[in-house]
Amino acid sequence: MIGGVEALTFYKSPNSKDPPDWPDAEIIMVAGSYSSDQGTGLIRGANIRQDIYDTVYKPLEDIIEDYWSVLIMQFRPKSRGYLKLRDKNPWSRPMFYPNYFHHQWDLEVLLEATKEAIRISQTPAMKALGSRIHDIPLPDCAHLHFGSDDYWRCSIRTLSYTLHHQVGTCRMGPNGDRSAVVDPELRVYGIHRLRVADNSIIPNPITAHTNAASYMVGEKLADMIKADWKNDQQKKTKIIFDNEDSFFKSLFNE
Ligand SMILES: Cc1cc2nc3c(=O)[nH]c(=O)nc-3n(C[C@H](O)[C@H](O)[C@H](O)COP(=O)(O)OP(=O)(O)OC[C@H]3O[C@@H](n4cnc5c(N)ncnc54)[C@H](O)[C@@H]3O)c2cc1C
Repeated sequence: MIGGVEALTFYKSPNSKDPPDWPDAEIIMVAGSYSSDQGTGLIRGANIRQDIYDTVYKPLEDIIEDYWSVLIMQFRPKSRGYLKLRDKNPWSRPMFYPNYFHHQWDLEVLLEATKEAIRISQTPAMKALGSRIHDIPLPDCAHLHFGSDDYWRCSIRTLSYTLHHQVGTCRMGPNGDRSAVVDPELRVYGIHRLRVADNSIIPNPITAHTNAASYMVGEKLADMIKADWKNDQQKKTKIIFDNEDSFFKSLFNE
């Protein structure tokens, strides 16, 4: 992350078929730029190539001005990625295949949200602060007219990275759904006494960042386990009563 989040807004694409109150993207405005730490760490976090930094962002290092940047986060992307186990060693890191922009829709939502962010940057309030767009083109996109839709599409494909909101790698679903790993009580199908309680069980990407959702998953499972234990205890208690009952009955009968 470049700097603290100063402001954010939600964006609804005019082509969206989802309910009106479901935004398609979040426009996050943060202080600073990739040059704020002179190219030492931020570009590694965002996986920005050194030659891109040197051409586009490094020139900002020498200019004493304030910068702000926009991160655009799409909600409910239609592209689907997957992960694969590297080998049988449980400590080996899995391999992620995010498959960004496999579905054209995602690129178009981000393009429209980018244009909305530019519109915001050009409002009188922002202009009064001297806000203007940094217009050194990305080397990979320099063949396209800066500011055209195709330029921004190229820029989106070039600069995209994760905000770490992966879900659905261990998705919850009904019995018989071959893509489901856990049932609605988060029990792993086919394995006795194993549950999963983290964001991996969320079947589809949510319209939010994912941290609060992971707490909700954990809290919900804690409630379900407590309910199961209570039921078990009641059953056990009932067995004792039954036994005592039958014990006394047998006494009276005798
Ligand atoms: C850099 C970064 C910034 C983020 N910023 C935000 C933010 O601002 N707002 C927001 O809402 N979300 C944010 N997120 C996302 C949020 O942190 C995650 O969605 C959330 O932590 C996921 O929780 P989880 O419980 O599903 O997974 P995790 O927090 O990853 O927990 C999984 C746990 O399982 C353990 N584990 C893994 N394998 C095994 C195993 N085989 N056996 C036993 N234990 C195992 C791990 O050690 C880990 O403790 C951010 C994520 C990152 C990485």
